Amino acid sequence: MTQPATLPRLPDLLEADVVDLTRVLCDIPSVSGDEGPLADAIEAALAPVPHLEVLRDGDAVVARTHLGRSRRAVVAGHIDTVPVAGNLPSELRVVDGQEVLWGRGSVDMLGGVAVALHLAARLTAPAWDVTWVFYDHEEVAADLNGLGRLAERHPDWLAADFAVLGEPSNAGIEGGCNGTIQVVVTTTGRAAHTGRAWRGENAIHAAAPVLARLAEYEARAVDVDGLVYREGLSAVGITGGIATNVVPDRCEVRVNYRFAPSRSLEEAEAHVREVFAGFDVTVVDGAPGARPGLDRPGVPDFIAAVSRVTGGSPAPKYGWTDVSRFAALGVPAVNFGPGDPSLAHADDEHCPTDQIRACAAALEAWLTEGAP
Ligand SMILES: [Zn+2]
Repeated sequence: MTQPATLPRLPDLLEADVVDLTRVLCDIPSVSGDEGPLADAIEAALAPVPHLEVLRDGDAVVARTHLGRSRRAVVAGHIDTVPVAGNLPSELRVVDGQEVLWGRGSVDMLGGVAVALHLAARLTAPAWDVTWVFYDHEEVAADLNGLGRLAERHPDWLAADFAVLGEPSNAGIEGGCNGTIQVVVTTTGRAAHTGRAWRGENAIHAAAPVLARLAEYEARAVDVDGLVYREGLSAVGITGGIATNVVPDRCEVRVNYRFAPSRSLEEAEAHVREVFAGFDVTVVDGAPGARPGLDRPGVPDFIAAVSRVTGGSPAPKYGWTDVSRFAALGVPAVNFGPGDPSLAHADDEHCPTDQIRACAAALEAWLTEGAP
């Protein structure tokens, strides 16, 4: 007979230190698709908390207050990780004189999840009503994303005035994100033998003005809700030609435009078509950006409280994250979590323990200030 596996349990959330809690979360394996035991442990730890209503969908756990506050915040994080690379169990180490938690998930993003769990249990009467969201399948194909599933099945669970996503941001506020659109600019000609090149029309030569427009293009820096987003228009691929003795009759230049969140996807497309006016432009793919919403009611209080604890000021986010899913629901969102994003998914993934404590202290300051 095989022994039943012991079910992982979380420590008492009111007693546990937030860094110790992060270690426990890291040491419960939760690679995408296998988040079940961690989701069960989170649900079991939150279910007895009297001030929270706990909901479950698949391996997503949602816990929320009902205090009748005028504003509701979502604090969200994904509980899955990328595959382990010999970097578990987690351990405390000293790197460059700084204590760090070393191991898979320490950065992306179980530190942020630990901060949320720690506060969900402790803040019995926060200044905002809070919905704490712990979701699955972030590190895999977008159609499996647990936050996307909640948005589809239970949009009311995500309804809020503002959302904080605990993705690693070095404990700084990173607002919104740029949008992205991929297009192909095609030039055509007439094929011929290169021995009689005058009989053909060279499609690669015809692409020269396309490249010239890219080289001359001056990308904008755009202020959106008080943050400056830098744009970029880049050729990311070029193809043409079928043989060394044939004048090519077709050339494709693949272009990626990263655009500030003040522009819609449709406006971004129109802009790219204007830049390449006179050429054949086909849109391949695109995703809108997300406004940071830092000027929305109540959000300046969040910024002020966090800045007092961390000493930092908000910066724009350039990469695409799940804040865009909140933006699509009409909820402004920021990234705010411990860890250096460039160490996410790395074999030497590690997070300064000071940042985990700072994020917990900052969110606690925000949610307790002004509470009745
Ligand atoms: Zn992540």
